[in-house]
Amino acid sequence: MAKLALTGGTPVRTKIFPQSNTIGEEEKTAVMKVLDSGNLSQYVGSWNPDFSGGPMVKEFEKKWAEALEVEYCMAVNSNTSGLYSCIGACDIGPGDEVIVSPYTMTAGAIAPLIYGAVPVFADIDEDTFCLDPKSIEANINERTKAILLVHICGHPTEMDEIMAIAKKHNLKIIEDCAQSPMSVYKGKFVGGIGDVGVFSLNYHKHIHTGEGGMIVTEGLCDSGENSADKKSRWSCSRR
Ligand SMILES: *Cc1c(COP(=O)(O)O)cnc(C)c1O
Repeated sequence: MAKLALTGGTPVRTKIFPQSNTIGEEEKTAVMKVLDSGNLSQYVGSWNPDFSGGPMVKEFEKKWAEALEVEYCMAVNSNTSGLYSCIGACDIGPGDEVIVSPYTMTAGAIAPLIYGAVPVFADIDEDTFCLDPKSIEANINERTKAILLVHICGHPTEMDEIMAIAKKHNLKIIEDCAQSPMSVYKGKFVGGIGDVGVFSLNYHKHIHTGEGGMIVTEGLCDSGENSADKKSRWSCSRR
């Protein structure tokens, strides 16, 4: 077999792939409807029915929750800020440790730092490039509070083993699904398997809004009706 380009062989393709345009008539019509309404996002910065955005944002959250088969969804301005929010929602703070992947975009390691916690790199599995459960377990100590795992390149992480580890050590699981919308692990969409999952809508991801992110969870937040409750972490849309 010819030597792979990765190891110094001649690349089969030298030109970068052309960018496809995924914006069609349906998207243009939807955008015009928003422009005609005069309200671009309708977020209001105080407790109010529009605290988490106007009707279009809420409709999008509801549809995302339905598509991913999870109970709650909240739109954010990026996957990065979504990961920050998840660390906060898991009550992680100074001195705590979060196990993260060394093979991903920087946001995974930075999210714990935002809250004064320490990111601890476990190793990846050499077949899937996702976190290796054995390495996760080897890095757990009394300060560990959560595992921030990444379903990289659309490949789901070995969740059964990681869920068992999390249960044994009482850890939260945050799933970074930036590259894996609708990836399936044993019949379930990733994002709704751990405690909370985050998707990216950045322009170079599968589905995009220019910039954006979606957080999904089965139970880390209350629904909108309880959003004035001090204990509520987020005000989400419900499926
Ligand atoms: C793109 C990406 C992010 C960051 O997403 P943004 O929406 O650009 O903030 C985080 N993690 C992974 C694995 C990504 O691919």
